[in-house]
Amino acid sequence: MASLSLKNVCKVYSNGFVAVKDFNLEIADKEFIIFVGPSGCGKSTTLRMIAGLEEISSGELWIDDKLVNDVEPKDRDIAMVFQNYALYPHMTVYDNMAFALKLRKTPKAEIDEAVRKAAKILDLEHLLDRKPKALSGGQRQRVAMGRAIVRSPKVFLMDEPLSNLDAKLRVQMRVEISKLHQSLETTIIYVTHDQTEAMTLGTRIVVLKDGVIQQVDTPQNLYNLPENLFVAGFIGSPQMNLIDAEVVANGSEASLKLAEDVVIKLPADKAKKLIDGGYAGKTVVAGIRPEDIKDDEEFIEAHADGKFQTVVKVYELLGAEVNLHYDINGQTCTAKVNPRTSARVKDTITLAMAVERIHVFDKETEQIIT
Ligand code: ATP
Repeated sequence: MASLSLKNVCKVYSNGFVAVKDFNLEIADKEFIIFVGPSGCGKSTTLRMIAGLEEISSGELWIDDKLVNDVEPKDRDIAMVFQNYALYPHMTVYDNMAFALKLRKTPKAEIDEAVRKAAKILDLEHLLDRKPKALSGGQRQRVAMGRAIVRSPKVFLMDEPLSNLDAKLRVQMRVEISKLHQSLETTIIYVTHDQTEAMTLGTRIVVLKDGVIQQVDTPQNLYNLPENLFVAGFIGSPQMNLIDAEVVANGSEASLKLAEDVVIKLPADKAKKLIDGGYAGKTVVAGIRPEDIKDDEEFIEAHADGKFQTVVKVYELLGAEVNLHYDINGQTCTAKVNPRTSARVKDTITLAMAVERIHVFDKETEQIIT
């Protein structure tokens, strides 16, 4: 069992810089939690506070039923895997993996069993006699994982463990880490700035910006129900189209005017929220994902309320799909369409937005309205 609880955790560095503000999070046993956000948002600082490598300025950190703010890192029953692997270069893979248990004075037979078991899980059995310099990046990363596994800690902390690997290996290791989580059945907290890694690995994701939690949710909810503009723009690739729009109300109906000639009629529930919220005549931010804008006839017919015309600026063939880039009122937008599209650069084309999939944000507070 390993559940964690962070209560109003803050980190103020000695120079007065506030790196983490009022961090509140309950992590259940066996969860795979991701901290994601841009560089400098406080992901590593939070992870290091959990590990005990950084002092908590205020707030409480609980592991199971124990307040651990003042517990030494080595007594927290946590193992951390860093991005630079931190392997001992003069030791073999076997000795690197055995090191922590030797320090603990674990009996030799027990160490041997733990190392061989971890090596089997990580497919390192044939490499146990090698030194780190004779390994590939992916193999070194697996040894770093192995070192953490042999200790059978309550919690694994991983700080961008894949960032030194090339793109292909990163995808492979991502799958390995997912399998590892399933087979070990432990709690993992994983830091990354890569939203794809976050979306594919996490059971829940914590999105951070400037030391403040923006949203904590499942990958699916973050994608479909972002609570603010930052999360909407950060999660998803290509990113969600975010376009300034005027709310035009007429009785109980409402439209979004994205440009003089791009006016989208909203479904009744969204219209009601905007009118009731006093947004008629105001500027809001309309958000729509590239895959919710298409150019095929069937889609356009089904979404007549979201129909508009534009000129293709850039045509990008990605194999399974095509991204069309165009402007709406001077703002660059993307539609992810079928690769069989006949649209090419400079063509005037008809597109339609799936109006029921439009998100509307308050321009000032940046929070979701509907
Ligand atoms: P990255 O993805 O770049 O590693 P991060 O989200 O992990 O970023 P942190 O390393 O947690 O960010 O740093 C958060 C903020 O705290 C940054 O603005 C950083 O400059 C600042 N910071 C980190 N360590 C210190 C320190 N020892 N003293 C002062 N400020 C620090």
